[in-house]
Amino acid sequence: MFNALHVNDLTLYRSSLIDSFNHIGHAFSTRLGGVSPEPYNSLNLGLNVGDSDENVVRNRDLFLKSINAGQGQLACGVQVHGNRVQRVENPGLFDATDALITDKKNIVLAIKTADCVPVLLYNPVHHVLAAVHGGWRSVKQDIVPKTVNLMSSEYGAKPDDIYCAIGPSIRPCCYEVQRDMADQFPTDSINRKDDRLFLNLVEVIKSQLLVSGLLPGRIDDSEICTCCHYELFFSYRREGAQSGRMMMAAVLKY
Ligand SMILES: [Zn+2]
Repeated sequence: MFNALHVNDLTLYRSSLIDSFNHIGHAFSTRLGGVSPEPYNSLNLGLNVGDSDENVVRNRDLFLKSINAGQGQLACGVQVHGNRVQRVENPGLFDATDALITDKKNIVLAIKTADCVPVLLYNPVHHVLAAVHGGWRSVKQDIVPKTVNLMSSEYGAKPDDIYCAIGPSIRPCCYEVQRDMADQFPTDSINRKDDRLFLNLVEVIKSQLLVSGLLPGRIDDSEICTCCHYELFFSYRREGAQSGRMMMAAVLKY
């Protein structure tokens, strides 16, 4: 279950499943509580979307404080909708990276989204943390199973001990796709309404997680659609190129 919480002027979401572990801090941002003007109002956490860098830096400070972290701890990818997974030993910005894994404490793994699916993976037995940017291209290229496999093969984190949180993202209520795109996904992940097709990308991810060995009771889905709730979230589908970005941030505390 996901819970909304209010920290100063911010509204954040956290997974109660992930919160049941003391060793990890995490949060999913909303668009509320920041300093950016329209159309980035107000907690835009993405650079290079047209907002001023100064505003984004202020906003990142505000957001990261909510998990008692700072920007010097950030590990981010330059997200390209690929399937490269970065092993993170130190904070930094990593080229062409849509997934990050670490077993080091005090490094904040961060994923930026506006409709794409943010996926948090945590193995409390081996203290391994991963964050995935699940856009349709990356999901189709198996970025989620690839990350789970690397957590297992490189860090000894067995899939049946991995806990997962799936944050707010565009859902089949709003995610209309054309046939050529729908054809690239399993038929049971496509909802039909009259002649229109809607992709359930989260269902694709959940199926991949189960095939990878995660247990069903260890997947916590927010069940929140960013495109329906645009007063609360940035939505690329609704707002286009001038959409701000939310952030999922997670850190091993000790
Ligand atoms: Zn929706």
